[in-house]
Amino acid sequence: MNDELPEVLTLGHPKLAQPSVRVDLEDIKTDLFQERLALLERGLKHYGANGIAAPQLGWFERYFLMRDPSGSGALVYWINPELKILDPELVWYWEGCLSVPGLKAYVGRPRGIKVDGYDRYGRPLSHEFGDWEAHLYQHEHDHLDGILFPYRVADPRHMVTADELKQRDNWPDDWPVAGAREAPIRVVNPDG
Ligand SMILES: [Zn+2]
Repeated sequence: MNDELPEVLTLGHPKLAQPSVRVDLEDIKTDLFQERLALLERGLKHYGANGIAAPQLGWFERYFLMRDPSGSGALVYWINPELKILDPELVWYWEGCLSVPGLKAYVGRPRGIKVDGYDRYGRPLSHEFGDWEAHLYQHEHDHLDGILFPYRVADPRHMVTADELKQRDNWPDDWPVAGAREAPIRVVNPDG
């Protein structure tokens, strides 16, 4: 068994920016796949993240792990998830990513979504997410499509360093855009 935690790939790695392929459902029960799920969990805990996706660890298949955003503490694996937008109105949060160290961005994402996929045992899994839960979910799902949060910013000025974001009380009210200074920070990596 290989239990070494792979290094996290970061912004600019060409394969991180490619769509990943679907998991063969027959593979879910294999030792190799289950070992990778365990490594995702170790990585999530090691980095103190709210989510971590297989492509970030160099496995270019469609699965990820995220903390249940409702605060239950549960860790939920999503395999081959399909996303449908229920409410396209954007909600805005500051977000970060293990693969984009040191940077944060003010990003708008659809407010309501429905997801259908499979859990870690290959059983069907469906859920509707709203507001910040939908925001977090979509960040992780984007990794499966090769999309990192900097690709989602409405304006390059909406991306700042983590250090600068800590100083935002000193920003003008409308910097970098009206509403951003007061928006919640939903960091995927609290230490990032
Ligand atoms: Zn991420």
